[in-house]
Amino acid sequence: MSETDQQPERAAIREYMVIDGKPCTEGVGRLPVFNPATGEVIAQQIEAGPGQVDLAVQAARRAFESAAWRATLPAARERLLLALADRIEAEGEALARLETLNNGKLLALSQMLEVGASAQWLRYMAGWATKITGDTLQLSIPFPPGVGYQGYTRPEPVGVVAAIIPWNFPLLMAVWKIAPAIAAGCTIVLKPAEETPLTALRLAELALEVGFPPGVINVITGRGEVTGDALIKHPGVNKIAFTGSTEVGKLIGHAAIDDMKRVSLELGGKSPVVIMDDCPIDLAIQGAAGAIFFNQGQVCTAGSRVFIQDGIYDRVVEGLAVAADSLKMGSGFDADTQIGPMVSARHRDRVASYIAAGQASGAQRLTQARPWQGGGYFIPPTVFADASPDASIVREEIFGPVVVAARFKDEDEAVRLANDTRFGLGASIWSNDLGRVQRLVPRIQAGTVWVNTHNMLDPSMPFGGYKQSGMGREHGRAVIDNYIETKSVCIAYQASA
Ligand code: NAD
Repeated sequence: MSETDQQPERAAIREYMVIDGKPCTEGVGRLPVFNPATGEVIAQQIEAGPGQVDLAVQAARRAFESAAWRATLPAARERLLLALADRIEAEGEALARLETLNNGKLLALSQMLEVGASAQWLRYMAGWATKITGDTLQLSIPFPPGVGYQGYTRPEPVGVVAAIIPWNFPLLMAVWKIAPAIAAGCTIVLKPAEETPLTALRLAELALEVGFPPGVINVITGRGEVTGDALIKHPGVNKIAFTGSTEVGKLIGHAAIDDMKRVSLELGGKSPVVIMDDCPIDLAIQGAAGAIFFNQGQVCTAGSRVFIQDGIYDRVVEGLAVAADSLKMGSGFDADTQIGPMVSARHRDRVASYIAAGQASGAQRLTQARPWQGGGYFIPPTVFADASPDASIVREEIFGPVVVAARFKDEDEAVRLANDTRFGLGASIWSNDLGRVQRLVPRIQAGTVWVNTHNMLDPSMPFGGYKQSGMGREHGRAVIDNYIETKSVCIAYQASA
């Protein structure tokens, strides 16, 4: 790959934040941004301190309360979101390459998901802007005599939204927060993850270019404990929309409740893949491999625990290990790469420590170690079997290409194993037996249950977690509720003239 080939994404790098429609280079420090495939520093980002966070929240507040934004018709917000989708597609190649440069993911995934799905989600949410409705209510208030009542509800935008997102789908996650917030009429301050700020910064500029008023979408950067902490505690924020780990989600939930800020939490997972003995076996092996190795396992719904029915256990586990060892590791820019790097050196070390702990716990590692030569933060796809149910590789979210296989006898045991986790984000069942599928779906404790597929999302399909995987739902009509307050209006009138 020559330097010239990398020009479009380098040209899209911005080393400033976007506050009130203007570049901001003030901060409490600078943080390097890396290319995870090489370890090279590709940019410096600003770390926003409380002062810059305050500027951003005030800008969002002014924009929210401005007569101009209040007068913006739902159809005009719809058009802004549609225009942003078009603009993202027009700049799609540079954005996709920028994401691969910064996050390490395969270029095809950046094109399809970061760019393609972002445009798709924006267009879907644009439609909601004109379809948010309240109810008319049949009231039964009996007094005083002669007085009648008319009741109705008014959905109103919740106000200034603080959105904090992780690094695994940086542009798409930004859109998942911005699109419904704008559809509902809110304004927003978004903080991307410190590992992957670059596409969100460019997105803020694209929004200005298509006509979003200054202050409606602000993007600030910095670490969670500095910038994120100041943002969630800012009294000018009405609602926090968070996607990230369960540990940080709990901190944010507590902080939100202290001020009664509205909060929605999309958190971690340890999703089960349940393979029944009647399934099409090759499809299930491929599916289980895709469920965990897609995006290097850095997916909240990654199928990191695979449960296989006794009769087909050996064949599926062997197939999964062979599939893992055959995946080619390398730069996301190389067309034949199937596994890119972990997002950061720190995360690579974290995933490696889980693999070491798995081996130390006595679990059997079925895949090769494939030590990586050269720069970059690579971890080979890894399959474990015969792990103790208490091992950290079984219980904790690793967020990397590491899967643990175990066997079960019957449906009851499959359900018990699948639900034996504090998480409940996703799950998949692999079977062609309609009766089995129908019996299992209601028993699995997860926000999404896939059948004969895994990790598939659609903007119309509510998404979120049972148990410690979160609170609230994204996508579909459900996400709009995260961004509105419901006002009840009660009008008294003289019932008889
Ligand atoms: P993380 O929780 O460490 O960080 C997420 C974001 O929170 C980052 O922007 C970070 O800067 C910020 N943050 C960290 N500490 C903070 C604090 N004290 N106050 C305010 N903000 C703070 O998560 P991560 O490592 O970036 O992402 C991986 C996690 O995200 C995994 O657990 C994964 O399952 C989860 N995730 C969930 C979903 C979902 O939809 N449920 C989607 C993607 C990722």
